[in-house]
Amino acid sequence: MSADPSIICPDHGSDLTSLLEERLPADVIRCIRAVCECSELTGIPACLVGGSVRDLLLGRRVVDLDVVVEGDGIAFAQELAGIGERELVPYSRFGTAFVMLPPGIKVDIATARRESYPEPGLLPEVEPASLHEDLLRRDFTINSMAIRLGPTGFGTFIDQHGGCGDLRAGIIRVLHEGSFRDDPTRILRAIRFRARLRYTLDVSTVDLLVQSVESGMLDEVSRQRIREEIVAILTEDDAADSLDTLSDMGVWDSLFKYDLTLPEEVKALFRRGDGALQWYRSLAQEHDFNEVERWVVRWLLLAGDSSADTFSRLSNDFHMGQAVSQAAGERAERYPRAHTILFDDSHVDSHGSSRRTDSTLYWTLTLLGPVSIVLLAGEGSQEVRTLLEDYFTRLKDIEPFVDGNDLKSMHLPEGPRIGEILREVFSAQIDGEVRNRTEALDLARHLARPSGKGR
Ligand code: ATP
Repeated sequence: MSADPSIICPDHGSDLTSLLEERLPADVIRCIRAVCECSELTGIPACLVGGSVRDLLLGRRVVDLDVVVEGDGIAFAQELAGIGERELVPYSRFGTAFVMLPPGIKVDIATARRESYPEPGLLPEVEPASLHEDLLRRDFTINSMAIRLGPTGFGTFIDQHGGCGDLRAGIIRVLHEGSFRDDPTRILRAIRFRARLRYTLDVSTVDLLVQSVESGMLDEVSRQRIREEIVAILTEDDAADSLDTLSDMGVWDSLFKYDLTLPEEVKALFRRGDGALQWYRSLAQEHDFNEVERWVVRWLLLAGDSSADTFSRLSNDFHMGQAVSQAAGERAERYPRAHTILFDDSHVDSHGSSRRTDSTLYWTLTLLGPVSIVLLAGEGSQEVRTLLEDYFTRLKDIEPFVDGNDLKSMHLPEGPRIGEILREVFSAQIDGEVRNRTEALDLARHLARPSGKGR
């Protein structure tokens, strides 16, 4: 039993008006009042559901609102957008839309629905239904509670499946035996919520989960949907715990049939990755770099010793996206090279002077995307981070003194030699061997002579 005093466990039918007002910040309450007003105006019954209710009772921060209406969800969202003078954004899914209300609170509106699953893993066939049926199609008891917002009975708590009891007991439980068969992505959701809330999985739920995994149900789900759940898992603070459970319950092997073994010490790896990401983000703020997502770094960290080929293939199969494919591609050559330049002590000669020149650092790091940079920072000491910072703050944005047009005006024939010379002159500039355009042009002229190869 959880002894957390911030968990409130009201009876079905209780009035939660005061709890809403006590626990939710004023701007969230304003949004709830807007939904209530909309329900009164349209006569369409509306309830707060799912994660919003769960987090309210847990005393956790409620960020966005999930609302279900017994009627036309899109029409309701249109009306709500009018009240808040905002635009609605319809989803392609059945009768769902969201409205952003000030100061940036997302209100998800869905038409109450019943779902039937023609085959495991396929998206369900959907039709409008009562709130009661809508709550029945939810994943876990703790996500199946609701609070009525209008047009009457504001604040009434609805808990038909013992969600509150499970919340207090710290249990993740499916609503019915066929739940994982209907939607095997719930396997991943169960494991994610377990780790986030530090709950246990109900014994029968575990049996059903393991049976579903063993009978290969995850194979029936599109890779795109699996990807979304993996991303959600890897975004959470407690992702390493989820990965342990995925592995213990056979989910990991069932998903990734390639030779991808979970690296040892995932927790420590992720801790270092988070530290490096924090370091990168503070640099990024100052220098306007591209954002790097936490899950992307963690996915790359999971590559472990698997071959670069296997990992790239796996990432493509699961539609992991551009940032991942770039970093996965860099693993084969560019990353190991950068690793050697940054980490290998043989770059410091016997007199202690560094042969790791600014230009080697530049040419090595300029070929890497931000994710690889974060991974390098995660592997390295403060000294490595200082080198990386040096690259970003001093070297990265140096403008070359000479360009291709300068070389063309020296009547150099088209061909690869132009690129080689430009690179050599720019390297000399980065290393401080040429200090201005005149010196750079002199060097370029020297190199352009038939005998001028090499500095
Ligand atoms: P989070 O805090 O991660 O956003 P959440 O519970 O709000 O948690 P969402 O994915 O936003 O999660 O889903 C909102 C609600 O929709 C859930 O609380 C649950 O009731 C329902 N839901 C979401 N996915 C499923 C699913 N695969 N099967 C059944 N119900 C689902």
